[in-house]
Amino acid sequence: MISLRGINRSFGDHQVLHDVSFDVVPGRMTGFVGANGSGKTTTMRIVLGVLAPHSGTVEVDGEPITGGYRSRIGYMPEERGLYPKMSVIDQLVYLGELHGLTAADARRRGTDLLERLGLAERAGDHVEALSLGNQQRAQIAAALVHDPVALILDEPFSGLDPMAVETTLGVLRDVADAGAPVLFSSHQLDVVERLCDDLVIIADGRVRASGGREEIRARHSSPEWTLVTAGDTGWVRGVPGVDVIEFDGGHVRFAASSPELADRVLREAVERGSVISFGPYHRPLTEIFAEVVR
Ligand code: ADP
Repeated sequence: MISLRGINRSFGDHQVLHDVSFDVVPGRMTGFVGANGSGKTTTMRIVLGVLAPHSGTVEVDGEPITGGYRSRIGYMPEERGLYPKMSVIDQLVYLGELHGLTAADARRRGTDLLERLGLAERAGDHVEALSLGNQQRAQIAAALVHDPVALILDEPFSGLDPMAVETTLGVLRDVADAGAPVLFSSHQLDVVERLCDDLVIIADGRVRASGGREEIRARHSSPEWTLVTAGDTGWVRGVPGVDVIEFDGGHVRFAASSPELADRVLREAVERGSVISFGPYHRPLTEIFAEVVR
């Protein structure tokens, strides 16, 4: 587990990180979300050792992180750093060798990754000849080619089309499933919502919420339910103890002080006619995010 403990960092007299603490748990994908300028890249650079904190520590399994561990992290920086005039596969082989793989192993891994990322046909092309989306995939392959012990990716999905987001996700999920901690930043809350296990929400250099995605959702949601029926659901407004939040003909979202009360609404709906669906309302991450960073 990678743990950040009380990280502070300033640039000049501008303090950009305030007591930042969170864990990146092996086998889980941790989404790091926050507005531009909230401190995500600075935090990631500190984990990588590219930048030093002014106070606080980065630990791996309870011990201070070592240079050896850092060199085995797969990092995708915000400013993409591939050589424009080198072919994609040569670049992967070169990076793999830098990390101690033999040329043959690096080529094998690189080829396999390009295959999985849908870029195999472009393996021999210079990076500069690729579209931005394909350069992005090549960059992801570069972060993975040396079989990293952990992944830290700065906005890996920005600029990818929806299909490429899905393939990339599959590849990252495999790395997590193999037991590596995976931390990625993103401003695309819909993507984060779908794929991460854990979340860290940062605003103005302060962690506002962190932990399991569902745990955060539960913590920031009052118990609400949605009911969809074939008929009109206006009667729900009249049920004592029920607070209607959203109503649109056959669809109603309501807050109820207890699950028993919600059950009562369901029973009445069944008596009144055909129920199409009923269940707890999952508050979208966009709403939770807006609330916690306020
Ligand atoms: P994010 O990745 O969330 O967009 P950053 O970590 O890049 O945020 O930036 C956080 C803040 O730190 C911003 O106000 C940014 O201008 C400032 N900052 C980042 N790097 C430097 C630097 N090298 N020198 C001065 N200010 C910096």
